[in-house]
Amino acid sequence: MRIALTGTPGTGKTTIAELVPYRVIDINSLVKGGMNVGTDPDRGCLEADMDALNAHLSGLDSDEPLILDGHFSHHFADWSIVLRLSPTTLRPRLESRGYKESKIMENLEAEALDVILVEAVEQCSRVDEIDTTGKSAADVAKIVTELIQGLRRLPPGQVDWFTDFFNP
Ligand code: ADP
Ligand code: MN
Repeated sequence: MRIALTGTPGTGKTTIAELVPYRVIDINSLVKGGMNVGTDPDRGCLEADMDALNAHLSGLDSDEPLILDGHFSHHFADWSIVLRLSPTTLRPRLESRGYKESKIMENLEAEALDVILVEAVEQCSRVDEIDTTGKSAADVAKIVTELIQGLRRLPPGQVDWFTDFFNP
């Protein structure tokens, strides 16, 4: 069973993936490791080879939960867990990564407009959404684990950063 752990860059996917008791596949390292179709000239970053990734991930399928870590991992799973974070808290995380202002704004706007959540809802038959704002990584990992254990559900629609971000 593949489960995508998705969300805007900086929302905590890799941190949380390391804390849950399941096997994790890092989609970004597969892309860097060769599953790409070259550098996107407009964005200056590697463009993922979606077919190669799909084929590779199909080969790993089993009954055990397999966590896919990545901001487009929802394209490869039927169930997505979307990590959300208030843009106000997300900004300093992206700044400390050294992103340039235009890339920071692009990501903050995507978070404010629910871009990844909407994509996940379009792609997946089940989507859960976790508001991680103010929660420790251990707390978020516990929620993810409880979702996968079937102990709770967190349907989308709990967060609204729009007012926060566009009308502070
Ligand atoms: P992603 O993989 O989604 O891009 P990361 O897991 O790399 O995000 O996390 C980005 C930064 O935020 C890291 O410095 C990480 O330590 C920090 N972080 C992640 N989750 C939390 C949390 N729940 N509380 C505080 N800091 C966090
Ligand atoms: Mn990551």
